[in-house]
Amino acid sequence: MPEMHFRVRFPDGETVDCYSPSYVIEDYLREGERYAVSDFLQRTRTALNIASERVRERYGFSCSSALDQLAAIERTVSGLSPDQLSEPVQVLEFKKHGARDARAKPAPAEHHTVIVVGAGQAGLSVSYCLRQRGIEHLLLEGRKVAHSWREERWDTFCLVTPNWQCQLPGYPYAGADPKGFMLKDEIVSYVQGYQQAFDLPVREGVMVESLTERAGSEPARFELKTTQGVFTAEQVVVATGCYHKASLPEYVGEIPPHIVTQHSSRYRNPESLPDGAVLVVGTGQSGAQIAEDLHLAGRKVHLAVGPAPRCARRYRGRDVVEWLADLGYYDIPIEQHPNREQVRDKTNHYVTGRDGGRDIDLRTMALQGMKLYGPLTTVKNGVASFKPELKQNLDGADAVYCSINRTIDAYIEKQNVTAPVEPDYVPPWEPDSEPTTLDLASAGIGAIVFCAGFASDFSWVKPPVLDPRGFPLHERGVTDTEGLYFIGLPWLHTWGSGRFSGVGRDADYLAEQIEGLLAPRPEVSDHLGSSRAPRHT
Ligand SMILES: Cc1cc2nc3c(=O)[nH]c(=O)nc-3n(C[C@H](O)[C@H](O)[C@H](O)COP(=O)(O)OP(=O)(O)OC[C@H]3O[C@@H](n4cnc5c(N)ncnc54)[C@H](O)[C@@H]3O)c2cc1C
Repeated sequence: MPEMHFRVRFPDGETVDCYSPSYVIEDYLREGERYAVSDFLQRTRTALNIASERVRERYGFSCSSALDQLAAIERTVSGLSPDQLSEPVQVLEFKKHGARDARAKPAPAEHHTVIVVGAGQAGLSVSYCLRQRGIEHLLLEGRKVAHSWREERWDTFCLVTPNWQCQLPGYPYAGADPKGFMLKDEIVSYVQGYQQAFDLPVREGVMVESLTERAGSEPARFELKTTQGVFTAEQVVVATGCYHKASLPEYVGEIPPHIVTQHSSRYRNPESLPDGAVLVVGTGQSGAQIAEDLHLAGRKVHLAVGPAPRCARRYRGRDVVEWLADLGYYDIPIEQHPNREQVRDKTNHYVTGRDGGRDIDLRTMALQGMKLYGPLTTVKNGVASFKPELKQNLDGADAVYCSINRTIDAYIEKQNVTAPVEPDYVPPWEPDSEPTTLDLASAGIGAIVFCAGFASDFSWVKPPVLDPRGFPLHERGVTDTEGLYFIGLPWLHTWGSGRFSGVGRDADYLAEQIEGLLAPRPEVSDHLGSSRAPRHT
């Protein structure tokens, strides 16, 4: 089994190399992050118990090393003084090792016509479309179906896009609230329910570690090395999303050790952060919503405002998404978009679906006591520094908000639609200065939540299909390596490609390409009497 070490520093200064017989630790801890002691203990307990169970499933006995490791961590924690218990544990480094028993005879590779890597909504949609065409396939999922929605969103998370946009192929949203916004657990049930409704062939707990092409070795053209052995396939679809690594700034190491630092994907709720004020960094969808979550819970929030745009939730009697759908915005292919390739890297507009949906206006929150700054540039000697760009960023977000509303006005006028008139937006608050520093101790900051997005990691994909930044090169998901595809990337084809609304169209397109490559093969017997396996089942 693959094993790893994770080095942590406890609040008493002790640095310890901890062992896990599985990579599952990565689902619960992030390199560079700090966790309140109780949170750290809970995460390692869960992860090491899962790791031990995985050993038991494979070998019939639990892993004593994992359980010994857990006991050692519990001993260290129980030896901490009350003062030390209020300081965080920092995860310094992960070190991965391959399977331990190198002498063991490798199991023969398991072959499938198509392998889909990842069982989020994108992978499941491809699976459904392949099933419709009778194409044999298997999904390999490193964790569990709908992992990202389960493990990488906070407790009060809800969709920003309305439920009616959840259009997975063969499984459109059928609940009672099409104009509402599903909560985290409902999203997990929706995605999981999709897999179950069609019994889509997923194998969970199989992490693909490398994908190589073996030209000339048809039909086993692609080889996938995984944590559960080797698989081969004629065609492969990579459906691993693109939010792989939490983006944390380099200066995270400069943050005073008593302050808990967290990435947005690890934030759960206000109670999981230590007492005191919280500095939230970034105002994309996650940052704006997490700042609001803390603010509504009565926490003092300091917010570093970035350049993300915003949009209204409702305008002139309807959800803005409904107007934009009528405008055809969600059907524009990337080649026809005025901003072409740049649009792929754009930050999403901030707005929320919380409590039935509403605007997020940071100016209103400032009036209610939230402290706003420009983008955070560094933390040094306990002092956070910000660019003097608060006014510019608030104005920029409002300019986008108003321009979307103007586009809707023009549409209403042109189409002669009857819609209530709304007054122009008037900013309710203006910053009277540009605060550029914050002394973390005097502001009582107990935690910093970084909402600076994610980096993608496709380095395990070995055929030459990545650009110099390591991002897939493709046309509508089809790469230059025949039989290799990507799905679920932002603007793979349209705005909805990285979301619930458009992934079905992309999945259908890829299934069509896959079918096209599977040339019909007559059943032929060789001289030993065996016949080739059919590609279609
Ligand atoms: C904060 C946030 C808010 C969002 N809000 C919305 C919204 O309101 N509406 C909307 O439509 N979309 C939203 N999205 C975008 C999008 O719907 C999600 O990112 C969605 O999870 C993408 O689905 P996916 O299947 O492409 O990728 P994922 O859900 O990330 O699934 C990929 C799967 O691949 C697995 N995997 C990864 N690497 C490997 C490997 N090497 N081997 C095996 N398995 C692997 C993972 O475990 C995971 O289960 C949001 C995204 C974020 C981050």
